[in-house]
Amino acid sequence: MPVVAIDGPAGSGKSTVARAVARQLGVAYLDTGAMYRSVALAALDHGIDPSDGPALAKLAGGLDIDVGDRVLVDGADATTAIRGADVTAVVSTVSAHPEVRAELVRRQRQWAEEHGGGVVEGRDIGTVVFPDAGVKVFLTASEEERARRRQRDEQAPDVATVAADLARRDSLDASRAASPLRPADDAVVIDTTGRTVDDVVDEVVGLL
Ligand code: C5P
Repeated sequence: MPVVAIDGPAGSGKSTVARAVARQLGVAYLDTGAMYRSVALAALDHGIDPSDGPALAKLAGGLDIDVGDRVLVDGADATTAIRGADVTAVVSTVSAHPEVRAELVRRQRQWAEEHGGGVVEGRDIGTVVFPDAGVKVFLTASEEERARRRQRDEQAPDVATVAADLARRDSLDASRAASPLRPADDAVVIDTTGRTVDDVVDEVVGLL
């Protein structure tokens, strides 16, 4: 079950690169951040406190999450809603609960079995979800560039607010006890600052 693991902080170019690598290789692609965002969205919809791990795990366990070109949560199209500022504000609190992670990691491994592997992007793919992945990449970029990219993607009004939000989320994701954001010991770290998508995609494909 060959897996290409692509991890890194928000704005590092992960999604763009992972999608392009999957297309080039003709394999499936999974955005695991969309799964955590789906649980966060459902928690907001159900009035569940983002710090209530047991309640969130129960919610996640019964939630139908379908992540593809569109994201369906319990059958409803949540593609746009999961990218909203309200979801972004709570997703790192939701994803810090080990019992939430256990449920989503189980589904990620199941996805890879069903698809015969593929390109999987997230924060802990190379360290925890697929420690035996054939290729592990950890993408980074300067804080300025990451904030600029996110502002462009989200059409946010000002780059300073985006930068502050990225810094807040990075610090929560990297400091949590369960599966913190960090490169696997055997990951290839690629700094994407000032590089084109094609260039980075070629480097990742070249690792195979
Ligand atoms: O990738 P994206 O920015 O959409 O991820 C949203 C959040 O989901 C991250 O900030 C992180 O808290 C969480 N996440 C995670 N583990 C993953 C993917 C995402 O904890 N594998």
